[in-house]
Amino acid sequence: MSEDFFTCFQISCQGATSVTTFAIFLCDKIAPALRQAVYEKTALAIARDMKGKVPDFSGNRASLEVCMLRYLAEEENFENFMMYLSSPRHFLQSYIQKRVEKYCSENRRLEMFLEDSLTHCYECILSAVSASTKVVKDQIDRNDKISLWLDAFCQELGEVLSLPRRDLKGIEHQEVTDIEFLNNAMTESLSAMKDQLKKELATADMSSFERQPHKILAEQFSGCWEQCPFCGALCTNTMPHDGDHQLLFHRPQVLKGVKWHKTDNLVIDICSSLVASDCYLVINEVTRYPYKRYRDAGPPYSKWNILPDTSMQAYWKWFVSHFRADLERRYKGKFQGKGAIPDSWLKITKQEALDELEKH
Ligand SMILES: [Zn+2]
Ligand SMILES: [Zn+2]
Repeated sequence: MSEDFFTCFQISCQGATSVTTFAIFLCDKIAPALRQAVYEKTALAIARDMKGKVPDFSGNRASLEVCMLRYLAEEENFENFMMYLSSPRHFLQSYIQKRVEKYCSENRRLEMFLEDSLTHCYECILSAVSASTKVVKDQIDRNDKISLWLDAFCQELGEVLSLPRRDLKGIEHQEVTDIEFLNNAMTESLSAMKDQLKKELATADMSSFERQPHKILAEQFSGCWEQCPFCGALCTNTMPHDGDHQLLFHRPQVLKGVKWHKTDNLVIDICSSLVASDCYLVINEVTRYPYKRYRDAGPPYSKWNILPDTSMQAYWKWFVSHFRADLERRYKGKFQGKGAIPDSWLKITKQEALDELEKH
């Protein structure tokens, strides 16, 4: 504040050079707002560009899920699968983040996006300067020209960057009669400011953004993030919602490490088959419910609508067969007895599993 006051004082005293000092003062106010506007605009542009051009992000969350499952299958990294299965929301975030970082680093894309945004914002400021000059030029008899000029300038800028008019109160009483001269002084100062910012942007990376592009992109794939309490699959509702959670394909419960009661046999059945069976849901030693009445077990079970359906995706049959040793080690169980893997599962190839996934 005291610095502002000092500058105002300087402007009043220096007479002839006051216009230049005024322009410099105003540019000092514009610079941080411009920097912020450039980053915001760039973040949105990157998110929009990727949504349009990268197939993974051009659809909805269900199609992004398919892309992530394909990526996981191609990688065949068990730990990454475990990460996806235990916290799908976090996995999705970091999947998007990695893709955005890669996209931006290819062909100096980040720099180009930032430069484009800077050019656009800069041109808007220039045209706001000349528009305000035009407004004030004809007001020959007014002696509050600067105040009028600032009114017009802030109004013109409103859409592009946030420069509150009230922050410029300190300089609105300047006596500047030659508005053309002000116009030129502003243009000159703005050009210097732009060069300075351009230099700064050349060293920017993803951490320079206050609101990061991958977060904007990820917001487009939000929805309900509840996981089935039995198998861990995500509710497929595209919005947070009241009422029951549901999903199309439940998964073998071994993906959450479930075992048959009092055995080390892993459960390869899916929730939607079990709710049609005569099996019991064992909560603890003294509490059990028939699976057919799983809702009696209260929340979180009671909040799910699981319809009887025996269809299981080939993808998970392939996964269980392929990683059976890892799963046994991880969950200290065995694929035997009631958990024996059917021969038909072992024959499924990764390609068949992926092909089926693409169909839905
Ligand atoms: Zn389930
Ligand atoms: Zn839900």
